[in-house]
Amino acid sequence: MIDKEYLLRSIRDIPDFPKPGIVFKDITTLLNDKKAFTMLMEHLEDRYKSYDLDFVAGIESRGFIFGAALATRLGIGFVPVRKKGKLPYTTISEKYALEYGYDEVEIHIDAFRGKNKRVLLIDDLIATGGTAEAAAKLIQKTEQNLVEACFIIELSFLDGRKKLENITKVYSVLEIA
Ligand code: AMP
Repeated sequence: MIDKEYLLRSIRDIPDFPKPGIVFKDITTLLNDKKAFTMLMEHLEDRYKSYDLDFVAGIESRGFIFGAALATRLGIGFVPVRKKGKLPYTTISEKYALEYGYDEVEIHIDAFRGKNKRVLLIDDLIATGGTAEAAAKLIQKTEQNLVEACFIIELSFLDGRKKLENITKVYSVLEIA
C-alpha cells in the first residue's frame, strides 16, 4: 500500500531555488529514504505492470532516476529525453517556451527501435507542463503509442496537465494544490 502522506513528507521544500519565488521540490530526500523510494517504485510497478509497455521514456534529469528504475522493474527498455546537444547520434527535437525564451528536448531518431511501441513518459514533477508537452510531441513524432504521462508530483495549481490531456492520459502520484 502507498502512504502518500509519508511520501509527501519525504520531499523537501527549498524556498527561492533556483530563483526567488520558486519553491523547489527536492526529491533527493525521497531517494535517500529507502522506505519512501521502495514504496514509490512498488506503487509504480504495480500500476504499470498490466499496461503491456515496451518503453519508459524519462525526461532529463530526474525523470531518468524514476524512469530507469521502473523500466528494469517492468523488464523493458528505457529511453532518455535529453536537453538539446547532449545526445551523440542523429536526433529529432521539439522546442518549448520558457518564461523568457525557448528550450529544446531531443531523442535519438531510432530511440524506440521501430514504430507503434507502447511508451510511458515519466518525470519527477509537472509544473506548467511545457517540458512534458514537448517530450510527448517528440514521442508522437516518431509514431509511437504514448500510453500515459506519469509524474511523481503535480503542482495542480499551475494546471500543467491541461496541456498534456489533449495528447495523452496523465497520472500523478502526489498532488500539491
Ligand atoms: P514545467 O515544464 O513547467 O512543467 O516544468 C517541469 C520541469 O521543471 C520538470 O523537469 C521539473 O523537474 C522542473 N521543475 C519545475 N518546477 C519545479 C519545482 N517547483 N521543483 C522542482 N522541480 C521543478
